[in-house]
Amino acid sequence: MAGLQGRIALVTGASQGIGRACALELARAGATVALAARNESRLADVAAEIIAAGGQAAAFALDVASEESIKTGAKAVLERFGKVEILVNNAGITRDGLMMRMKRADWDDVLGTNLTGAFLLTQALLPPMLKNRWGRIINITSVVGRTGQAGQVNYASSKAGLIGLTRSLAREVASRSITVNAVAPGYIETPMTAVLDEKQREAMMAQIPLGRPGTDTEIAQSVAFLASDGAAYITGHVLDVNGGMFMGA
Ligand code: NDP
Repeated sequence: MAGLQGRIALVTGASQGIGRACALELARAGATVALAARNESRLADVAAEIIAAGGQAAAFALDVASEESIKTGAKAVLERFGKVEILVNNAGITRDGLMMRMKRADWDDVLGTNLTGAFLLTQALLPPMLKNRWGRIINITSVVGRTGQAGQVNYASSKAGLIGLTRSLAREVASRSITVNAVAPGYIETPMTAVLDEKQREAMMAQIPLGRPGTDTEIAQSVAFLASDGAAYITGHVLDVNGGMFMGA
């Protein structure tokens, strides 16, 4: 996919997995990509990979769980590029456990990173986007934000919350030609899911009509589509990319 020449994008959680794949795909489509995450050496590797392929990228240390770090990181990106036109809120963590045993800290960490982090970073980058009267905000939610998942009340709540944020913000900023959408991946092979044991993996596979896990590139291609001019009339949408695992409304 091409068509993002000259656009400035920022991807959180770009140091590995789905975020890295999104950064590669947006750069392949022509965007200049600001790569954000905590692990600076992995970010530098991703930036080098993009540049080696002829794209443009720069790494920014940014911890979405820290309001201070979000402010500093957003400022650094805006100083460097002047604006962010495509924002991909992808950074996410899990701290699984059954409700009765879940610690308050596991709830706070997951909500803080997955939902509050996206809220604060979007708020920090929205003013120039509003002024520019063009923007694409793409939030990476999850199939479990739609279906729920035993052992993940914190994670599923954060992802369902992101869907609420997506649809509410979509209504707020549509008049400025800014679209806000979510991509809801199913079971994707990344470092996050590499920790699943064989039993969990089999249980997941049994629910996938297409009979295989998804790839990070398949998520990234959906993100690149939502960032493109071809998706200009789509807003407030949740795009399921899950091999048929969930076929809801
Ligand atoms: P990984 O664990 O492989 O990668 C997570 C990324 O998020 C890393 O780059 C990590 O970078 C970054 N990150 C985590 N915490 C923070 C933080 N506080 N500040 C900045 N960056 C942070 O996960 P995936 O690639 O699998 O997942 C990406 C997104 O997709 C997540 O939101 C996840 O919930 C969602 N998703 C994944 C699915 C899957 O099956 N894999 C399914 C559905 C949704 P660093 O450690 O360098 O900060």
